[in-house]
Amino acid sequence: MNGLILVSNRLPITIRQSRTGEQAFVQSDGGLVAGLRPVHKRGGQWVGYPGEEPTSKVRRALIRKRLIPVPLSASEYRSYYLGYANSAIWPLFHYLIDRCVFRPEAYRAYHAANERFADEVAARARKKDQPVWVHDYQLMLLPRMLRERLPDARIGFFLHIPFPSAEVFRVLPQREEILRGLLGADLIGVHTYDYAQNLTNSLRRFLGLEARDGVVRVENRQVRIHAQAMGVDVKGLRNVAYSRRVDRRLKTLRKTFRGRKVILGVDRLDYTKGLPLKLAAFRRLLETVDEWRGRAVMVQVAVPTRRGIESYREQKDEVERLVGEINGLFGAPGQVPIHYQYGSVSQEELAALYRLADVCIVTPLRDGLNLVAKEYVACHDSDGVLVLSEFAGAASELGEAIRVNPWDVEGTAEDLERALRMDPAVSRERMGAMHSRVAANDIHRWADDLLRPLTEPAEGRLLAGPPLLEPEVLSAAIGPEFAAASRALIVLDYDGTVREFTPRFEDAVPTAEIRQLLEKLGTLEDVQVFINSGRDRVTLDAWFGAQPVSLIAEHGAWLRYMDSSTWTPLRHSGPAAWKDRVIRVMNDYVARTPGARIEEKETSLVWHYREAPADLGAWQALQLTSLLEQMLAQSPVEVVVGARIVEVREQGVDKGRAYAAVVEAMGPFQFVLVAGDDETDEDLFLGVGAHGYSVRVGTGGTHARAAVESPAALRKFLADLLEQRAKVRTGSTRTQQAT
Ligand code: UDP
Repeated sequence: MNGLILVSNRLPITIRQSRTGEQAFVQSDGGLVAGLRPVHKRGGQWVGYPGEEPTSKVRRALIRKRLIPVPLSASEYRSYYLGYANSAIWPLFHYLIDRCVFRPEAYRAYHAANERFADEVAARARKKDQPVWVHDYQLMLLPRMLRERLPDARIGFFLHIPFPSAEVFRVLPQREEILRGLLGADLIGVHTYDYAQNLTNSLRRFLGLEARDGVVRVENRQVRIHAQAMGVDVKGLRNVAYSRRVDRRLKTLRKTFRGRKVILGVDRLDYTKGLPLKLAAFRRLLETVDEWRGRAVMVQVAVPTRRGIESYREQKDEVERLVGEINGLFGAPGQVPIHYQYGSVSQEELAALYRLADVCIVTPLRDGLNLVAKEYVACHDSDGVLVLSEFAGAASELGEAIRVNPWDVEGTAEDLERALRMDPAVSRERMGAMHSRVAANDIHRWADDLLRPLTEPAEGRLLAGPPLLEPEVLSAAIGPEFAAASRALIVLDYDGTVREFTPRFEDAVPTAEIRQLLEKLGTLEDVQVFINSGRDRVTLDAWFGAQPVSLIAEHGAWLRYMDSSTWTPLRHSGPAAWKDRVIRVMNDYVARTPGARIEEKETSLVWHYREAPADLGAWQALQLTSLLEQMLAQSPVEVVVGARIVEVREQGVDKGRAYAAVVEAMGPFQFVLVAGDDETDEDLFLGVGAHGYSVRVGTGGTHARAAVESPAALRKFLADLLEQRAKVRTGSTRTQQAT
């Protein structure tokens, strides 16, 4: 895409000092840059750090290659990259809490560096709806900073590491800022559904934001959360792997390892990669199965990384000590069980190793995806076997691999042995299946799928986010249509919409004004009025039973037509086995939250905290929500967060479905008007869509087409509508009488 601005921490090239002291370029290591190179080839600019401050000559050369260096000094880079990104976010997101170091000044450096990136990108933006694609955990604040500078930009973000469970993410001192940073994007991409779910849970828990079908509303914008594992450049890799030079290199390697099975490992020397445990498993294999001594060789490429951090230096020392020990114990003159190569290898060497290896072993303790596993599958053409940690994101895609738990050393050793002995026909079949999948979900498909939403026409991207209208303005716009309609339907939520909230929910009895308004609306000829409330049947009967309106209770679970005294269930519910469990938990939360109370309905239970101290109530509601969600994952219910309530209700019940049932039974209507104030009414707004008018009471992003400020404003609007219809109707009656 020509206009795209790619942004990642590092540029795909790194500046190094040559022997003569001049600046020279080398290719940067790592999966992320390898993956984005083909995207950059198509056009656009790439913004990132080039390893050191470029001279002006080098800077010009970079810009000619469409590579835009972000000006950061080496010490700034160290504090933001090593100090925060790799000392706080990296270990935490890989579930290694005890390795985390949280230093406020390092976070400040991270913030400042993200600002630097934002300035550079903003200066490069060429159009109002500039597409920008930001990558990875070093730049999690950037989407929001960009949104402030470029309000209409189309911003994508992709996280290449895991997004941890909310319980782990909770540890991060800057958890809210980081989440808000991400929400500046239009599209947040992660590798797996698990990560998307974890992110969604954290948004609910720490920001109180609800995702619906993978979409979160943030003010008037929609932010999509999308799970799609990164692919590899299968064609490009195979071009290298099946080149003449690699053929020649492979021949030499085969000669070197003749008569032995080759087990390959390729990992950065990172503690998340689980190298010590992998070596322990290999050692165990040699200890327990004599036959493999001298017959199995492990080629381990250990790529240097983050040498500025103490724990990485320790990791390197430990790995090298273990390799030495194993080679000492099981080696013989001229033959060592582990060929350990410290340093980067060329693309060609790596491709030759992928083709050579009988087994590729990838056993990270946690890994966002793991590209080595996919590259092996892409390059190896015969009967190779992949042994893969179940904690790597790639495990969800590569189901035919032998999956291991790296913490279980004995189990991994047994699986390694199974891999070495696997029947070639079986391994060929498994590799074939994985190969087709890796080839279909390659890097191009991944990039296209994630970039498409950033370049599609923008309509529908922004929620109408309707401005608040004065009731008179709204009634002037809609009134004539209502007045002229032969059949009209009005569906009104009650609490917070027609009636102001009261501290105690049972006190929100309809006032005389409301009763009169409903009386008049309900008696209009050819107008059907429904109260569509979350309240139970008994309350609605008591409050509106005598009024000329139909009733929908418990968010769409029950329906009672105006001229009937019986309620019809809109969904037949089974025995509510979940209720006792939920009541027990809600009671606990009532006990620890002064002012909170439970409302019990037939198809739902509601935990109210309107009367609780605001802070405490909101905090307990977040805790309760997440607990209920985990507890009820297998039950036919859903947990809904509303206006100062947490509600557990049966699935298949919502206000939108109830509306559809009414239209099916009584429709069609020439004019439809619906109104509501909270999340549960969004189902109704979506259900009505463009077939009618939807009005939200209060501010905030919504699917409704218009908004008014308060229940009082809505009542005024309804009264105006009523008057206009009454006027037209009396007018036409008079005309009829006169003729
Ligand atoms: N790689 C590299 N230089 C090497 C060895 C490997 O650039 O000497 C590449 C490898 O081809 C793969 C990436 O580094 O694309 C490693 O990605 P992975 O997802 O496995 O782990 P990460 O290092 O990103 O955590």
